[in-house]
Amino acid sequence: MLIGCPKEIKPQEFRVGLTPAAAGEAIARGHSVIVETNAGIGAGFTDEDYVAIGATVLDTAEEVFAKADMIVKVKEPQAVERKMLREGQLLFTYLHLAPDPEQTKDLLDSGCTAIAYETVTDRHGGLPLLAPMSEVAGRLAPQSGSWALQKANGGSGVLMGGVPGVRPANVAIIGGGVVGAAAARVAVGMGANVTVLDRSVPRLSYLDDVFMGRLTTQYSDMAGIAELLPRMDMVIGAVLIPGAAAPKLISREQLSLMKPGSVLVDVAIDQGGCFETSKATTHAEPIYDVDGIVHYCVANMPGAVARTSTIALGNATIPFMLALAGKGWKQACADDEHLLNGLNVHAGKLTYAAVGEALGLDY
Ligand code: NAD
Repeated sequence: MLIGCPKEIKPQEFRVGLTPAAAGEAIARGHSVIVETNAGIGAGFTDEDYVAIGATVLDTAEEVFAKADMIVKVKEPQAVERKMLREGQLLFTYLHLAPDPEQTKDLLDSGCTAIAYETVTDRHGGLPLLAPMSEVAGRLAPQSGSWALQKANGGSGVLMGGVPGVRPANVAIIGGGVVGAAAARVAVGMGANVTVLDRSVPRLSYLDDVFMGRLTTQYSDMAGIAELLPRMDMVIGAVLIPGAAAPKLISREQLSLMKPGSVLVDVAIDQGGCFETSKATTHAEPIYDVDGIVHYCVANMPGAVARTSTIALGNATIPFMLALAGKGWKQACADDEHLLNGLNVHAGKLTYAAVGEALGLDY
């Protein structure tokens, strides 16, 4: 199969759909790979890196879209890219169609077959192509939060790990899933005093086991959160209720319970945010102040570490990409119900129920 990888054009997107390593895996199996010039540059991969493993570098996205049997990307195709998709072409990328009627219409009109990273499942009920980005965002959260705690950024001037004789920062992580566990790992590693809150007692049990006493677990209820706030230097919001907007767990009024210069990191901002005062920010201006509390609410946190994020995403997508290239999408999806769950659009028809329900379209 001829696999094509264009350069991402969504603003602030530095990741790339195919790493040279992923391209090399495909080439080793007899496939051909074409990559748009500079596609990998934001993630630290040069055109020469791709050429060295046997890929062909083309000058324009138009050429890549016109020639490739399968397009592998990161972000949903932008309007100009959607115009270049054609009937029978396979698209493998993040789509997030449910809130995006325009994209959905264009994909249906194109006649392409689109498999969405975010709806591919695994046998544990997880989302294996979303999890690596949650890992990245989770690990980044205490790192970004500790930067925000510094005086120059409006923070209270508390060092995460303290020093001998001076207590470390108190960090609460609300939501102990993939993001929360990854955040806990880094916050604990930085020497902070960490409390993880969740509404799933089995999940709290698991975290209690694996962290072996290096953090405190607490059931997540409104009273418990209110009681914690006066003592916390940083609160990381990492909750998810599948298919729903994030619940608001800290109100504006409750900010007055916190010490001035404390930090809120709202990782759940891509689901609307779990603090009442959260609004999405960008890497260019990641923080703002409300009532003396520093808010960090970047909606695309993995973009800050595009190289790590690209490699992590590539590691997760490679087996699926190879199956699609090797067997064709029909056989690959027939052989793997989890990959089939990724099928959102085929030949002008919507094939994913939740998107149809969200947009009021037939599926
Ligand atoms: P996950 O499903 O693995 O974990 C979510 C956890 O939240 C679960 O353990 C669940 O029990 C818990 N939870 C639900 N309601 C709760 C409540 N009221 N109090 C405490 N815990 C509660 O999800 P995840 O992969 O960890 O993702 C967490 C959030 O981070 C999601 O909103 C996701 O979209 C977001 N995210 C954002 C970025 C970004 O760049 N900003 C990147 C990746 C993920």
